[in-house]
Amino acid sequence: MSIVVQKYGGSSVADVSRIKQVADRVMRTRREGHDLVVVVSAMGDTTDDLLGLAKQVSPNPNRRELDMLLTAGERISMALLSMAIRELGGDAISFTGSQSGIITNDRHVDARIIEVRPFRVQDELARGKIVVIAGYQGVSYRREVTTLGRGGSDTTAVAMAAAVGADYCEICSDVDGVYTADPRVVPAARRIGTLSYEETQELAESGARVLNAQAVEFAKEQGIAIYARATSSPLPGSDPSADGSVVRRHPPRMPGAVVGVASERDVLVLHAVPERPARPFALQDVLALLDEHHVAGKQLHVSGERLTLVISRENLHEEARVRDALAARFGQGVRISDTLGAISVVGTGINASFDNVRRGTEALGAQGMSIDGIATSSFRITWMIDRSRLDEAVRLLHVTFIEQPRQPAP
Ligand code: ASP
Ligand code: MG
Repeated sequence: MSIVVQKYGGSSVADVSRIKQVADRVMRTRREGHDLVVVVSAMGDTTDDLLGLAKQVSPNPNRRELDMLLTAGERISMALLSMAIRELGGDAISFTGSQSGIITNDRHVDARIIEVRPFRVQDELARGKIVVIAGYQGVSYRREVTTLGRGGSDTTAVAMAAAVGADYCEICSDVDGVYTADPRVVPAARRIGTLSYEETQELAESGARVLNAQAVEFAKEQGIAIYARATSSPLPGSDPSADGSVVRRHPPRMPGAVVGVASERDVLVLHAVPERPARPFALQDVLALLDEHHVAGKQLHVSGERLTLVISRENLHEEARVRDALAARFGQGVRISDTLGAISVVGTGINASFDNVRRGTEALGAQGMSIDGIATSSFRITWMIDRSRLDEAVRLLHVTFIEQPRQPAP
């Protein structure tokens, strides 16, 4: 029998009636003749609420204790969904991340999966059960409970899909796929039917909210097809790209074409310049201190003695402590800017010529947006601009690159 992995996001299990709807969708999938592993997120805003509680107790909450707290969220939804499936006559059993064999490193709060040992999951599938798994969590080799970073249930789902040899991994949420930009910001945004792993990964890393970047990285390594769909949508038919987005190995598009625009506001930009002779330091020391505090950098740029680093705030729960440590050690040599955001355009071969960088820079400049930095890769161009103008910039670049694309010269 074919195995399907389905993941339901927080808004799809936000309350009891939605959990019942998910149970119904699971049962419909079952009746189509699939073996099923279902991965769930925490109900609604549970993870944010738990983080809020932690912050009330401690401004710099201990990372291990945070993991103990946060994993409770998914544990609630897995048990409730399992009960709801049983109520509809299905035979379901729920497992925590640890029980389902998700083994991670011991980096609390944003651990990485290093191995999946899905024996219990496979045993229960063989017994004909529907296996419900708490997303976003695992266990380290030291037998400590860990979480996989915000949005990590996607990663659980894809890793499990690879481990059990699933036909595909369906990621169900309140949006029906990956869009050319956030539709709440850009009403003209369009759903993208099929995307390559690289495009999706770059979009996710640039702040698009639909799929977790690490999950896409896993899917790419393992060749797992991801179907991003709305929970309210029908089960995937013969062409799942017709009413959702499909991420898989994809024949190249026209090189240089932009597939999507994404932005990220929850970033800090760190600038380090050793103050000689006041307080000399090596750039290595800055990075070592950031590592000590488990700060994950997104883009690192070093030029001469000057270092610029974009830091995602998503899994940074001890910001105050990190800032204090940097100030104590490096004084004025390290500055942190808290007013910038990143806007990116993504597409295969986007930097084959400077055409796209020039057009984007010109469009932003024409609206008086000052550019604090530009970074490029083979798939992406990112501009750092004033965070308060990000939405405006997204609309602008969506018009420039997607609504009125320029045909490249033949
Ligand atoms: N509940 C976790 C979060 O909100 C994990 C997830 O939803 O994927 O980040
Ligand atoms: Mg969540």
